[in-house]
Amino acid sequence: MSNLNQEHGKEAYIGPEAVLEKRKHYFFPCTHHFYKKPPQIVRGEMQYLYDDEGNKYVDFFAGVSVVACGHCNEQITAKTIEQLQTLQHTTTIYLTQPMVDLAERLANGILPGKLKRTFFCNSGSEANEGAMLLARLYTKRRDFIALEHGLHGRTYLTMGVTGIPMWRSDDYLDTGVTFIPRPYDPELDDEVAARHSLEALREVLAAKGDTIAAMIVEPIQGNGGMITPPDWYFREVKMLLERYGVLLIADEIQTGFGRTGKMFAMDHYGVVPDIISMAKALGNGVPIGAFATTDEIAASFNRPSASTFGGNPVSAVTALAVLDYIENEGLVERAEMVGGRLLNGLRVLQEKHSLIADVRGKGFMCGAELRGTDAQESAALTDAVLEKMKDRGYIIGKNGTGRNVLAFQPPIIMPSEDVNAMLNTLDDVLTAIEAEGC
Ligand code: PMP
Repeated sequence: MSNLNQEHGKEAYIGPEAVLEKRKHYFFPCTHHFYKKPPQIVRGEMQYLYDDEGNKYVDFFAGVSVVACGHCNEQITAKTIEQLQTLQHTTTIYLTQPMVDLAERLANGILPGKLKRTFFCNSGSEANEGAMLLARLYTKRRDFIALEHGLHGRTYLTMGVTGIPMWRSDDYLDTGVTFIPRPYDPELDDEVAARHSLEALREVLAAKGDTIAAMIVEPIQGNGGMITPPDWYFREVKMLLERYGVLLIADEIQTGFGRTGKMFAMDHYGVVPDIISMAKALGNGVPIGAFATTDEIAASFNRPSASTFGGNPVSAVTALAVLDYIENEGLVERAEMVGGRLLNGLRVLQEKHSLIADVRGKGFMCGAELRGTDAQESAALTDAVLEKMKDRGYIIGKNGTGRNVLAFQPPIIMPSEDVNAMLNTLDDVLTAIEAEGC
């Protein structure tokens, strides 16, 4: 494919400084961006992004775990475009086929256990908000349990269960949420930290289990820094919750659709949650959100409700094409195999570079925690690595409560050669930073 800049002329783009200037004037001050010198991204093609100057980047963040099938994947966008030109929107009041086909497809072979009913919406926040409402309707209880440092969204209920202080923007959040320690503590062995978390859950349930509608969790905390609990953790969580009639909501918004090497990350733990929330990769860049549950739980959601755009033909046809692509290209297995190599490669770098304090994750959801002498230096070092990697043609993400975890969540189609080349570049960049500082 030829370069857009050459096709349309570089003057078609206003350039990063002008984009930043417009953001300053017309956006809210809450928005932020990575990099001291951010590029203006103008084109994407599978694992690659291009800026307005024609520079090419290998994308290891996939727009925060979204573009699993690759940027502008032609097999998927062909279906999207065809639907855009045929029928764009009616709402669920009218009968259209793609939304029911998608719900059926999810029920038959994608969703685990007896989960077979789906409500479509437009984003991850909306999916979790709906999942939480559903838990209240079914249990006729009000409150929730969440893990510290989890992230579940920007709406009132979902921000209330978000445990990362920087994402709790509202001063008047719901008080009916009890946070328990997550199964990770940098000072403790992972097994010990997970036991502490479970003990805290046991105490909360014993004290007020009969008021709790659900516990909401990310199977692997994304924003919290790729926190990956031991294999037994969620099984024990589910058993405890069942004793008190508390539902388990798995927020699979980052982890879903193959990213971790299973269709859903909860599959690693042998746990079928009561409700799963989904978004991001399901649309490969086209907005879609959904939550799914069993016949029995879904039956409690019988008061009228509707989403104007939820289940629209364009998103639904796109999601069907995404599921076809994931299946036909064996992306779940790919994530396990090539993602496994990435994780191992990061572990090898950890042996060599004292800057890397920890490596975590599963499949193509990997994190490398960087530690300097204090929290401030750790965050600054992470930013320096991000900037230098970008200058050498690699887009890496960043998360963690201290903003000091390099996040690798690439398109799952990422070839091994690009993984190896990125690891070599990261090796060089870490060596340079260790020698010079940031
Ligand atoms: N849950 C998780 C685990 C997320 O990572 C996010 C967003 N990064 C959300 C929910 C909210 O999704 P959205 O931004 O689509 O509303």
